[in-house]
Amino acid sequence: MRLSQMLWVTLREDPAEAELISHKLLVRAGLIRRIAAGVYVYLPLMWRVLQKISQIVREELNCSGAEECLLTQLQPAELWQESGRWDTYTKAEGIMFALTDRMERPMGLGPTHEEVITAIAREMIRSYRQLPLHLYQIQTKFRDEIRPRFGLMRGREFIMKDGYSFHVDGESLKQTYGVMDRTYRRIFQRCGVEFCAVEADSGAIGGSGSQEFMVLAAAGEDEVLFTGDGRYAANVEKAVSMPPEAVPSRFASAEKLSTPNTETIDKTCAVLHISPTQDVKQVLYEAYGDGGLLILVLVSIRADQSVNEVKLLNELQRHSDSFGCKSILRLNVADAAGNWAAQPLPVGYIAPDLPDTYLKASANIYPHFFRLGDRTITDLKNFVTGTNEPETNWVGVNWGVDFQLPEHIADLRVAQAGDRAIHDPSQVLASARGIEVGHIFQLGTKYSQAMNATFTNEKGEELPLVMGCYGLGVSRLAQAAVEQSHDQDGIIWHPAIAPYTVIIIIPNVTDSRQTETATQIYHQMQHSGIDVLLDDRDERTGVKFKDADLVGIPYRVVTGRSIGEGTVEVVERATKQATMVPITEVVTYLKGLLDRRLARP
Ligand code: ATP
Ligand code: MG
Repeated sequence: MRLSQMLWVTLREDPAEAELISHKLLVRAGLIRRIAAGVYVYLPLMWRVLQKISQIVREELNCSGAEECLLTQLQPAELWQESGRWDTYTKAEGIMFALTDRMERPMGLGPTHEEVITAIAREMIRSYRQLPLHLYQIQTKFRDEIRPRFGLMRGREFIMKDGYSFHVDGESLKQTYGVMDRTYRRIFQRCGVEFCAVEADSGAIGGSGSQEFMVLAAAGEDEVLFTGDGRYAANVEKAVSMPPEAVPSRFASAEKLSTPNTETIDKTCAVLHISPTQDVKQVLYEAYGDGGLLILVLVSIRADQSVNEVKLLNELQRHSDSFGCKSILRLNVADAAGNWAAQPLPVGYIAPDLPDTYLKASANIYPHFFRLGDRTITDLKNFVTGTNEPETNWVGVNWGVDFQLPEHIADLRVAQAGDRAIHDPSQVLASARGIEVGHIFQLGTKYSQAMNATFTNEKGEELPLVMGCYGLGVSRLAQAAVEQSHDQDGIIWHPAIAPYTVIIIIPNVTDSRQTETATQIYHQMQHSGIDVLLDDRDERTGVKFKDADLVGIPYRVVTGRSIGEGTVEVVERATKQATMVPITEVVTYLKGLLDRRLARP
């Protein structure tokens, strides 16, 4: 492509709305333009990057035995009502764009496609002989994200590859899941990004095993905890670890002490001369079930620890039947002045046995506190906790004597860097930041059961299909690559995903020898399959070099004065290393370099 014929505008200034360097660079280098919050136009150069990533994804998935298709973006509400996700995805903080058609039928724009694919599977899959099956698509997804930001990282309209597999049993699912793990690794390797695979939470989509792929970058939204032996890596949402040992208590018997002005843990510990590991704090959450039920959840946890809200939400989900709900939609730390409270709460002094009389009697409020304990509290002896009376604390109390252990005990704590690992306590967890670019799930029968998608096995029994699903953020991956690979002058694309791999710069377009040589090399490169740009603009050389660096084309060829000696300068963008190459050899030279860098793993 000739730059003189392209719609390409670079900017000197950073766009005001951009925080991340990758976002700034994509806008400044003329790759994307914002139309609305979280909605971006992919300009021609960006579209080439996205096409290249999509092609790598396609090649690797096709090798794995998956088949490409294109599902519908418009999705009828009934399908989502069948799966039970319509309310979760359209009410409160739901992220589905919902609309009503001219016949007054509710519909949504696809944020994900489990419902649509399960509806197809239900109609088309009859027998075990058709299984296993794996279909995927590369398509625009719509999500009305609560906080769209960081350019393509969290868009409201973005490109995703999503695949869905169907199996006779969990064994077959595990096999495909393993193949997908290897396929994803190959995809990210070929795209030239540094990544790691981590254990992940399965979230609202449900199911059992799941793994995320993270591009490592300091600006990543996700925290990853891992051990140096390479045997453990998990998203902090999911991570488990051994908490630090509790310091033995200095109290020997139960006593209620007056502790004025100790509404925080720090103050309590200072006044009582104790470690927070001897204190049991109560954290109160408001959880919202479908149908509008409010459940007040009282979590007892060692005071040096904090509650992992993802683990808490999952635990509540497991108990949703007991509240008479299908699911818990969301939770937040309770507002003590909330209008569910029948009387002012002893904030800062709440005990594990906070009586249910604090709850207003109302059809919308679950009539009991749902009491949960984190595992850190179970072994504590002679500990400190609240009394439900302002300015007083219990010291030297014990479970089973002074307080009932909460009925439900679970791992609810946030694992932290510095904690010991469960698989080997001599290993200590370290923390890194990552950008989630892929997520593979073993879904099981959640959707097939809800939507009655079954098959007949060898014995003639009708069973629900066992499902897996595999997402990969194509547009997010493109930006994550930039976040990971840039310098003060601009983007440094890996040739595998660069919009063009070579840019030929004519320093002086009025010099016909320079122009002729450049045009000749340009045509030769085009014919040998190199994605080449020709900067034939009537601009100063400095501007051309700056633009080439900013947009990050991996190799630059300059047809300057050296053509008099029969050579051109080839500069590698990443290292700025310059080599003089004979004009007659430059195509072969670059072809060789590119072939090596584009070799498949
Ligand atoms: P996140 O936790 O970041 O919101 P998610 O768990 O909602 O992601 P999935 O539903 O698993 O993501 O989607 C599959 C992939 O699609 C993600 O791994 C991510 O790379 C990408 N993705 C998800 N949401 C967005 C978004 N708003 N903008 C761009 N890419 C996204
Ligand atoms: Mg999300």
